[in-house]
Amino acid sequence: MYEKIYVVPLDENSRPFAEWLGQTLSRKMGFRLQTGIVSRLPEEAFNAGSNQYYAVPILAKLELLKGAEDEIILAVTDEDLFIPNHNFVFGQANSVGRTAIVSLLRLKPEYYGLPEDEELTRSRLLASALHELGHLLGLKNCANDCVMRAIMNVNELDHRAEGFCPNCLLNLTLPTKVKI
Ligand SMILES: [Zn+2]
Ligand SMILES: [Zn+2]
Repeated sequence: MYEKIYVVPLDENSRPFAEWLGQTLSRKMGFRLQTGIVSRLPEEAFNAGSNQYYAVPILAKLELLKGAEDEIILAVTDEDLFIPNHNFVFGQANSVGRTAIVSLLRLKPEYYGLPEDEELTRSRLLASALHELGHLLGLKNCANDCVMRAIMNVNELDHRAEGFCPNCLLNLTLPTKVKI
């Protein structure tokens, strides 16, 4: 049972989004929102050549900040993320360390030259965060019409189901007071 969640902004731009996300996740999924962890993007994770951060060492650093094993840390950044063999990732999760990170950058319409739309950015952030949380709660990527479906771009994200499919719901280790 992973009831406690920290939603940690790693830069100033992501702070209001992280606050909104934390409140939304605690309301919708019954997580107990924790505060008190402050972190920043580690410089050693930065790749100057691509102007991106390597997600894996960020998650390793976050894991060290946890007080208890059952806690979940979900970090939010405005920087672009990558892992080996991928040009970029929207997010990344480490189900052993119970840490995850999501990037806002490619969720923002303005990244694609479109007008700012905070509501759209927020709903994409929630979708992205739910997918990574699904990994922390025992799920793998899913081929069904499901929030656990892997996506390659923001268009696919916008057309993906917002919730877990019946298969994933069965396998989900949910916190108490679930309302989804
Ligand atoms: Zn995934
Ligand atoms: Zn599924």
